[in-house]
Amino acid sequence: MEILNFIDGRHEPATQGAWLDNIEPATGKPYGRLPRSSAEDVQRAMDAAQRAFPAWAATSVEERTACLSRLADRIAAHFDELVAAESKDNGKPERLAAAVDIPRAEKNLRFYASAAQQYLTEASMSGGAGQLHYVHRKPLGVVGVISPWNLPLYLFTWKVAPALAMGNCVIGKPSEITPATAYLMSQWITEAGFPPGVFNILHGLGAEVGEALVTHPQIKAISFTGGTATGRHIARAVAGTSKKTTFELGGKNPAIIFDDCDFELTLKTVVRSGFANQGQICLCSSRYLIHESIYPAFRDALVDIVSRMRVGDPQSPDTKMGAVVSADHLEKILSFVGKAKELGGRVLCGGEATRPESERCASGYYMQPTIIEGLSPTCEVNQQEIFGPVVTLQSFATEEEAIALANGTEYGLACTIWTENLRRAHRVAAQVDSGIAWINCWLERDLRMPFGGVKSSGAGREGGTESLRFFTEPQNVCVQIN
Ligand code: NAD
Repeated sequence: MEILNFIDGRHEPATQGAWLDNIEPATGKPYGRLPRSSAEDVQRAMDAAQRAFPAWAATSVEERTACLSRLADRIAAHFDELVAAESKDNGKPERLAAAVDIPRAEKNLRFYASAAQQYLTEASMSGGAGQLHYVHRKPLGVVGVISPWNLPLYLFTWKVAPALAMGNCVIGKPSEITPATAYLMSQWITEAGFPPGVFNILHGLGAEVGEALVTHPQIKAISFTGGTATGRHIARAVAGTSKKTTFELGGKNPAIIFDDCDFELTLKTVVRSGFANQGQICLCSSRYLIHESIYPAFRDALVDIVSRMRVGDPQSPDTKMGAVVSADHLEKILSFVGKAKELGGRVLCGGEATRPESERCASGYYMQPTIIEGLSPTCEVNQQEIFGPVVTLQSFATEEEAIALANGTEYGLACTIWTENLRRAHRVAAQVDSGIAWINCWLERDLRMPFGGVKSSGAGREGGTESLRFFTEPQNVCVQIN
């Protein structure tokens, strides 16, 4: 697959003619290439986007959202192709891409097509009804959207849809590790009705084209999802400018398991929350905090299930655990397991790289699902994001201790709380520092709700009206009426 940039309604290689290999994680082999774009490509996209902006901003919301709906139709029509491409690019099982990634990409576009049409701004009266105030929300101009590799088309569409719906022109940069589905989607942008220059997609390295995008003086906003260190770097790079930013960053999410939980439901769901997508979802639980009275029973039941999970070829319909995304990432995950052992942690299952039986997968990047106990809450394995199929177990005696452990990292993205006690559930949710608290469930989302993290997990919120607001500038218009 030869991936190309999409600028001003046309596909083209990077201006400087440089390329990057695209590797299939399941096999460890290159299967295509993508443009290694530079600041020159950003400038070309910017020129096109600025030419397109006045006319796009002046179209009706109905016209803009009709383009989003038609793009969603193309995603639905190419469902199987996108599922196969997402799995090949990322290493995730095809069944997961079919159940989660591609349906959600389509839903994101349809959701914002509808939400933007229903969006109302505020109005008020002041001065004893002497003045009418209303809010006029204007598009920002040309905005930059940067997304990671773990949910490639899902997160890319989540950002571009509200930006386009509200009348902005977009320069998007998907992860260089998983560029395929954004490229496939770029083939349908023109037929969906977007005029040239409105929606541009550039491929390449974060430190090169990504950096050029965020620092471009004409970029009005950056919507970023990725690692905390990258987010901080971008925040520093734009400090002192008036660019709007939103950061969705890493996590170290606790699952707080009380002794009065529904044992079977909790067990089944935390297995999913720890290991779905090989643990590479920002919302995955990575620290299981278990009440001491059920700790041995819960641990043993968990180890029994997880030790029987097998990694497989992502293309096989039976595979529930596929490859991790890259050789470097596998190394990083293994190095955390190594540190855990050095620190006295007990690896209860997994802990090694592995291979499915299939010949095709002999050089791929696979990690056994891993459970570790016996580590201090403050050690680096319990403090830093691993972002792989590795979870740690800790026990607690009291609700206060559970909350302190849950809050005892620099992150604050998501938590899950497992209890049948309604009062406790709400009480604990209110005290955990996190953008999302799931009680007796995980990964249930309502796209109208605000999404984001606290502390080092992010700044700003996406979802529903939050994104529509982010991608617009409110102007207070005041009319003297008597
Ligand atoms: P990353 O930070 O390495 O890369 C994310 C994106 O930023 C990529 O497109 C990359 O090319 C780009 N980038 C890198 N350096 C840049 C720079 N200097 N300037 C501009 N862009 C740059 O993250 P990743 O490894 O792709 O993704 C994994 C991380 O993303 C994890 O930490 C995970 O928790 C996080 N994540 C967070 C959420 C959330 O909603 N909070 C969702 C998914 C993933």
